[in-house]
Amino acid sequence: MNIAIIGAGFTGLTAANSLILKGNTVEIFEMDKTPGGLAMGFKKNNWDWSLEKHYHHIFKSDSSILSLAKEIDTSFNFYRPNTSSLIDNHIIQLDSPEKLLQFSALSVPSRLRMGLVLGYLKYVVKWQDLEGFKAHDWLEKQLGREPYSILWEPLLKSKFGPYYKDISLAWFWARIKARSTKLGYPEGGFGHFADRLAEKAVSLGGKIHFDCQVDRIVPNGKTVTVFYKGKKSDFDAVIVTVSNALFAHLAQSLPEDYKKKLNEFKGIGALNIVLELKKEFLPKDVYWLNICDPSFPFLAVVEHTHFIDKSHYNNSNIVYIGNYLPSDHELFSLSKEKLLDRYHPYLDKIHSGYKNNLLDIHLFKVPFAQPIVTTSFSKKILPFNTPIPNLYLANMQQVYPWDRGTNYAVEMGRRIAKIIHT
Ligand SMILES: Cc1cc2nc3c(=O)[nH]c(=O)nc-3n(C[C@H](O)[C@H](O)[C@H](O)COP(=O)(O)OP(=O)(O)OC[C@H]3O[C@@H](n4cnc5c(N)ncnc54)[C@H](O)[C@@H]3O)c2cc1C
Repeated sequence: MNIAIIGAGFTGLTAANSLILKGNTVEIFEMDKTPGGLAMGFKKNNWDWSLEKHYHHIFKSDSSILSLAKEIDTSFNFYRPNTSSLIDNHIIQLDSPEKLLQFSALSVPSRLRMGLVLGYLKYVVKWQDLEGFKAHDWLEKQLGREPYSILWEPLLKSKFGPYYKDISLAWFWARIKARSTKLGYPEGGFGHFADRLAEKAVSLGGKIHFDCQVDRIVPNGKTVTVFYKGKKSDFDAVIVTVSNALFAHLAQSLPEDYKKKLNEFKGIGALNIVLELKKEFLPKDVYWLNICDPSFPFLAVVEHTHFIDKSHYNNSNIVYIGNYLPSDHELFSLSKEKLLDRYHPYLDKIHSGYKNNLLDIHLFKVPFAQPIVTTSFSKKILPFNTPIPNLYLANMQQVYPWDRGTNYAVEMGRRIAKIIHT
């Protein structure tokens, strides 16, 4: 079969490799200049590894991407970095049951209650029993208002913005269930991993059109036509890996009721400043700092070089200032300098005088970064098959109950390839 894939993210690249190995002819259309999608990297001339535009790591339980790494002779290294939270201007390590039990801002009964509730979620329960509950309501009730508002409410708020009260408890369960204290990172970075996948697809005979935005997808009898850069090509099957809303826009001839469904799915964008600094930013080797203070205008500070050796980045200290926001939020429209000005008083509270160490600033924005996973989401997810024969949808809005991630993109890429070529 002659197959087109829209998007050279981890879903598209994995599907391409699987389909090529089964003897199909595959062409990928990617609007960016490099592969990797949301996990894409960038590399300065004096760095020997690429760096993600948005912080990335995997968990020990991420078996699909670990097995794919073996197939392309790439390896992940696992480390046990320090994950902490900023609470009342104090940085507190809270990344294990022991640390939680020592958390003196909560009373002893509240700590024990939290331990029991998280333990229940981690070890006992089937997610199907939980998906009808809202994480906000359930956690507030089970943990008590104060413990919930100190630790978990700020995290839900910062990840899902205005939608945080609607998120399914099954999503929260999956976060607790799948997380390992050891975190993995590929040799060379996720960008390098994506390059390897792209190179493999090409070496096996696949074609990748970079810098090539698809404008329209139209059914044409038994085939599907892809329109791009003033040209068009016919395919026996087309796989679309972009968001539901964008798919509705690209394939206008889809039935109206199906397009309405596609547009009902909500998502939130991501905004990441990357600082290069002469000196470390966070104390005590902290890699990940959750901001549990609602007055701060960002959600996390991630010191990448407390996880991965800074020698790969010409000894710069690399720090992400991460945020999830609706793409029409006013912070999205600011330049990197203006955005840093907004963040500056808060960053200065964490590390006074850090600006004297500033070497460079980068800003990366994506309008769709995180699906909004509401209650009973399993009943809302759209299947891979669409109303147009031989046109398939495989994207982050079908990943559930697990939080979307490169591991699930790989798993989805393999699943869609199996469906098309059994
Ligand atoms: C801030 C942030 C942090 C994250 N942290 C982690 C993490 O720690 N670990 C982890 O595993 N995952 C993480 N993720 C999620 C992970 O990056 C995604 O789940 C995964 O990369 C999704 O891959 P995908 O191929 O399904 O989609 P995408 O990566 O979105 O790929 C879709 C591709 O389609 C292309 N495209 C869009 N429109 C068109 C068009 N019209 N024509 C041609 N091409 C088009 C896009 O450019 C893109 O390359 C994070 C994501 C973000 C934003």
